[in-house]
Amino acid sequence: MATLAPFKEAVDAVEEAGGEAFKLCYQCGLCTGICPWNTVRSFLVRRMMHEAQLGLIDFEGEDVWLCATCRACVERCPREVPIIDIMRALRRTVVGLGVGPIPDSLRLTMKNISALGNPLGEEREKRADWAQGLDVKSFTKDTELLYFPCCIPAYDPRGKKIARAMAGILKAAGVDFGILGAEENCCGESVRKSGDETLFEGLAQSNISIFDEKGVKKIVTSSPHCYNTFKNEYPELGANFEVIHYTQYLAELIRDGRLKFTKEINKRVTYHDPCYLGRHNGIYDEPREILESIPGLELVEMPNSRENSLCCGGGGGRIWMETKKGERFSDIRIEQAIGLGAEFLVTACPYCIINFEDSVLTADKSEIIQAKDISELVEQAI
Ligand code: SF4
Ligand code: SF4
Repeated sequence: MATLAPFKEAVDAVEEAGGEAFKLCYQCGLCTGICPWNTVRSFLVRRMMHEAQLGLIDFEGEDVWLCATCRACVERCPREVPIIDIMRALRRTVVGLGVGPIPDSLRLTMKNISALGNPLGEEREKRADWAQGLDVKSFTKDTELLYFPCCIPAYDPRGKKIARAMAGILKAAGVDFGILGAEENCCGESVRKSGDETLFEGLAQSNISIFDEKGVKKIVTSSPHCYNTFKNEYPELGANFEVIHYTQYLAELIRDGRLKFTKEINKRVTYHDPCYLGRHNGIYDEPREILESIPGLELVEMPNSRENSLCCGGGGGRIWMETKKGERFSDIRIEQAIGLGAEFLVTACPYCIINFEDSVLTADKSEIIQAKDISELVEQAI
């Protein structure tokens, strides 16, 4: 059993993250009850809040690294305790003071982001390779819209299909858009949630400078994580541009008649609300509006949908950490989708796609169900 050590720095970090609010916790335990970890293993969020109040944290154990920042507990907490900010403050204490271990895979990811601007360890010069053969232009001052694909769609072989689908759709709708390619960096969302504030600020400043220099006024993102970071976190560092998630943008193009479907997709599908699109930003309707407008497609809802969506397990830097077999929330989501007879589990987030693909392959269920991004279905149907 690891020793609980008092750390004034931890209390200071927690206070900085949540002000006095974390002291309001009155140990009702609703957070523990709603946390998805407790469907697969024990994770006592209530106890962590108590330990944070006392500054008695077990920094040696893995609990500090479990939170996927899904926001389910924050929505449920009757005292409005900023639980995610507290989890982030604890990680910041580990990273800043070296008082506990950092998971190896996360350490490597942060090193890659710091050196190469992406978590996958890929060359910066190859950041625009996903667009090969698509005739996508580089963003210049006269371009209306910047498309920001996120690191996974830029580099990962599965993820690239999402970026290529988006480029195809924007072209079909006649949108004047461009990309920054090698000049853009990771948005830094998982960096900040993993406790490395210095690296996050460096990435953010670098992105903000290049956006300013190029005259970027409006950005469409594929990832809800980039969307959330640009919209809710960059402004405090001086950013000043409009940010739109692609589901909002495509819903608008469809409403305006600029995007028309010519083909049917005769499939039963279910939609998974990504935490950073749904609970973090309240975007629930536009993804459904797009899916319902695709001819032939039948949309059915899972038991945990909208505000009650079950996290895929990829937020809070968890996408870069090992999750033991039998402890993956995405496995449960696949089972829920199969239980409804869905042929596609559809979502609007590259992290969710990677996790679902992995679960489908591990369970050997690819003949029954496939993970799809909404952009892929839209491209297929236009
Ligand atoms: S739900 Fe809120 S008040 Fe209740 S134990 Fe959790 S943090 Fe404390
Ligand atoms: S944010 Fe989600 S994963 Fe993190 S403690 Fe709350 S419910 Fe659990």
